[in-house]
Amino acid sequence: MKKRIAILGSTGSIGTQALEVINQHPENFELEVITAHSNANLLVEQAIKFKPNAVVIANDKFYNKVYNALNTYDIKVFSGNESISQIIEMDSIDLVLIALVGYAGLKPTLKAIEKGKQIALANKESLVVAGKLITESAKKNGVNIIPVDSEHSAIFQCLAGESFNPIEKIYLTASGGPFRGKENKFLKNVKKEQALKHPNWKMGNKITIDSASLMNKGLEVIEAHWLFDLKPEQIEVIIHPQSIIHSIVQFCDGSMKAQMGLPDMKLPIQYALFFPFRIKSDFPRFSFFNYPELTFEAPDLKIFRNLALAFEAVKMGGNIPCILNAANEVVVEAFLNDKIGFLKMPDVIEKCMQTINFIKDPSYEDYVFTDNETRIKALSYIR
Ligand code: NDP
Ligand code: MG
Repeated sequence: MKKRIAILGSTGSIGTQALEVINQHPENFELEVITAHSNANLLVEQAIKFKPNAVVIANDKFYNKVYNALNTYDIKVFSGNESISQIIEMDSIDLVLIALVGYAGLKPTLKAIEKGKQIALANKESLVVAGKLITESAKKNGVNIIPVDSEHSAIFQCLAGESFNPIEKIYLTASGGPFRGKENKFLKNVKKEQALKHPNWKMGNKITIDSASLMNKGLEVIEAHWLFDLKPEQIEVIIHPQSIIHSIVQFCDGSMKAQMGLPDMKLPIQYALFFPFRIKSDFPRFSFFNYPELTFEAPDLKIFRNLALAFEAVKMGGNIPCILNAANEVVVEAFLNDKIGFLKMPDVIEKCMQTINFIKDPSYEDYVFTDNETRIKALSYIR
């Protein structure tokens, strides 16, 4: 039986790599839905190649363009963010890969879980904002969330067959990004072109900036807290510049299991799409002789303050991680538009965390409100 799949964010870095995996295994998948925000050309190209049942272009401005281009094909075309959340209710979808970036992933993730779809989750921001709602709903609806993020995929793989065994702690590895070891006087003047040069991974712009500022690792700490039901004190971040060990679980007897491989997102994507099976791949294999040294160091939380802020946010709980995420989305966009310096980003995030009303046990509506309020405030701190 073919798995019938929807890819939200098919035109992005994760989305395009997922389509490469699907393209290699046409006998295993039926593509039902693909979605994009504004990249109409690529969405149309993907639709013509993969013949999904339906496509959604979130930005209404491009609806006519996509509609006209697909007019002669038997492919339904919709537009608007609301359509993304509606379309995944289709009975014909088994698995939803959530590969859109940022807060926009929250609503469709919740909708897909409510409908009992299996979830392959790349969109870490939705767990950061509303991990409690998502994991509670997944439990209630009997939905498995299979992580796509490489570190969380690593932990998930290490936990296979260990469901009765207590975890003492996990080590989330981080490459350290392009600014590893740099001092504030250097970071003060860095430009987006430098921040966008990631040493090991080729990814979308937002996560690449997050990797340079270590906010990505901060978001991943919160993601791991929810996915694996861990206390913040059980999560340690280790800088591992070669990105070969993707993360490590330490069990209650002190034994440690790590998952390793070359840094290639197609591996965790394929693992999530085929879960619970491993399928033969021709991805390049790791050679010990190309990596005679694997090294580890502690992150500098005084310089990369975003990571410290994320730990603070997960400890405080409530709507604070939502504030952290919204403020971060605003400052990253401002940094990409040359409106704010690299070191100003944590200043704005911290100010938002300190000044926006704390809600201890937020509802979905509280998150929507907090997200909106934070964006307005963060923008006012940037101007
Ligand atoms: P990209 O920016 O490359 O792609 C994002 C995708 O989402 C695109 O298809 C984009 O459409 C779409 N999109 C963007 N904004 C919206 C919106 N407001 N509404 C609807 N659709 C939208 O991101 P990545 O693929 O790098 O990352 C996707 C997610 O996966 C992120 O949450 C990231 O943290 C996570 N992740 C990514 C990794 C990677 O290697 N890239 C690794 C681990 C996690 P369009 O192309 O039209 O703009
Ligand atoms: Mg990651």
